[in-house]
Amino acid sequence: MKGKLFVIGFGPGSFEHITKRARDAIQESEIVIGYTTYVELISGLLTDQKVVSTGMTEEVSRAREAVRQAEMGKKVAVISSGDAGVYGMAGLIYEVLVEQGWIEAEGVAVEVIPGISAINSCAALLGAPVMHDACTISLSDHLTPWELIAKRIDAAGQADFVIALYNPKSGRRTRQIVEAQQILLKYRSPDTPVGIVKSAYREREHVVMTTLEKMLDHDIGMLTTVIIGNESTFVYDGKMITPRGYQRKYTLTADEQPLKPHERLRKENEPWALGDRSDDGPSTEDRSGENRMIDVHSTEEHSSISRTVHDRSNDERTSAVDLHVGSRTPYDWAAEALMTLQQAHGSAVATSTVAPISPSTPAFRQQSIFECAVSPGVVNKKWTPQQMVLLAEVAGDKGEIEYTPHHQMILRIPTEDPSAITAQLREAGLLLMPVGDVVQIKACDFCDGEKKDAIPYAEELNRLMGGLQAPKELKLGVNGCGMACYGAVKEDIGIVYRKGAFDLFLGAKSVGRNAHPGVPVAEGIPSEEIVPLLERIVTRYREEAFPNERFHKFFKRVGEIEGFAYRDMTAVKIEDAVCGT
Ligand code: SAH
Repeated sequence: MKGKLFVIGFGPGSFEHITKRARDAIQESEIVIGYTTYVELISGLLTDQKVVSTGMTEEVSRAREAVRQAEMGKKVAVISSGDAGVYGMAGLIYEVLVEQGWIEAEGVAVEVIPGISAINSCAALLGAPVMHDACTISLSDHLTPWELIAKRIDAAGQADFVIALYNPKSGRRTRQIVEAQQILLKYRSPDTPVGIVKSAYREREHVVMTTLEKMLDHDIGMLTTVIIGNESTFVYDGKMITPRGYQRKYTLTADEQPLKPHERLRKENEPWALGDRSDDGPSTEDRSGENRMIDVHSTEEHSSISRTVHDRSNDERTSAVDLHVGSRTPYDWAAEALMTLQQAHGSAVATSTVAPISPSTPAFRQQSIFECAVSPGVVNKKWTPQQMVLLAEVAGDKGEIEYTPHHQMILRIPTEDPSAITAQLREAGLLLMPVGDVVQIKACDFCDGEKKDAIPYAEELNRLMGGLQAPKELKLGVNGCGMACYGAVKEDIGIVYRKGAFDLFLGAKSVGRNAHPGVPVAEGIPSEEIVPLLERIVTRYREEAFPNERFHKFFKRVGEIEGFAYRDMTAVKIEDAVCGT
């Protein structure tokens, strides 16, 4: 009978943080082998297992003994704190097995059972310091030459990794942590947040929040893990937090949205903001400025999908959050979770809780990128050389200018104060629009202005709807003659002016291998009807589409919009492919 080796990580040390599989495996074992302190930590889980506990430095003999017992047919648990594969026993067990020519198919069975490593348990006690690219470095030079450890600290410091230092210091080894600090100070600010956690989830648990400069003033020992933040890590209310991304993008501010505030208060423009939902608590006026969350879906199966809605008349901070509605970044989910919680507790301070993570908070060192779309106009497609020069000037060395397929240049500029930039660009006659999941009017150049009859409609549509937030980017094509050479029929919504009236195309699939034009739903719509009709169509989409649902999918799902029926335009069936495949 072959035995079995369980290599078990039992987590930081409390019973709540041991996995079920680890408990079961300990139960199933006949022999438990581990460092004395660890065996004592899990002694509450032991029943009639034979215990082999040894001193700290006898790891190799512990591994050999474990393998020997398993080969004799025993079920053996080798225990490590945290995760057995992180400076634990797992590697050593395999090394002993390899030395003996073990192969899985014939030798004793081996099961490595994962546990919560110190980097995770200590991070949880500190807040969310890991979040982004991080590494663990053991400062023990017992098995690794110091030169190599120093080289790794240097590389990690240079590459801006969050660093978890294991085995930072012992009674005998006291220099390493001092040298580690000196190396890191070459690359990081002295006030970089540092968290020191001793005995996480154990009896003498102790958590200290300090800085790279002051970290050595605190008690550090063998049971301590030191977590060093990266350039963006900040401390808020005693919590150490590393933002998820290095750059935070924001677009034109709320007061620059194309609709004037009084226009925005019309229900057809902000359908979600004015609903007289009886279950929605106080009226909008009573709660202006406060973030609200409402359910935007009527069908039962989606009734649990909600989205955040913000008062547009509020400040820049609100609009920065607003930007992602529809595209749903992890930041949105986190903000929404907070708001849900606050609503559940009847708190009235929803916005102030979100505020500390806004780009304007000084402790927040994340780079802010202002992003906006620039063009010579809705109709005009010609840049003047002066406008091009200005574009280059405002972008500067650090900015980015992206040439897009949508009649716009996207500007991305690191700045906290975009107003100076936008003022200059507007002064030069350029049209600025927010980017992301917004409505964009894509007009043709009306044969350089020769076929000008439909121009006022394009401009009116842009004035009314250009830049409005939408569940997903929505392109509305306007072409001035039946040639439709700017491809209006290939946009989400397309109108083509012909013989004094408009033809309407709905639901083109503009991207993908199975792209197809929109459904030609009507011909000869009288000019005076086209703008209100498109407003109603766009409003319905904004009101009823799911977050991220493209217009063509929405049209297919609802089957009818403004009396126009959906028809399948895919002549040949071809598999869809997602981005990157
Ligand atoms: N296998 C373990 C690491 C063993 S090396 C794991 O995955 O966590 C021993 C080092 O781990 C200690 O010097 C300390 O830096 C860290 N450590 C382990 N448990 C810890 C705890 N409960 N609290 C703080 N640090 C801990």
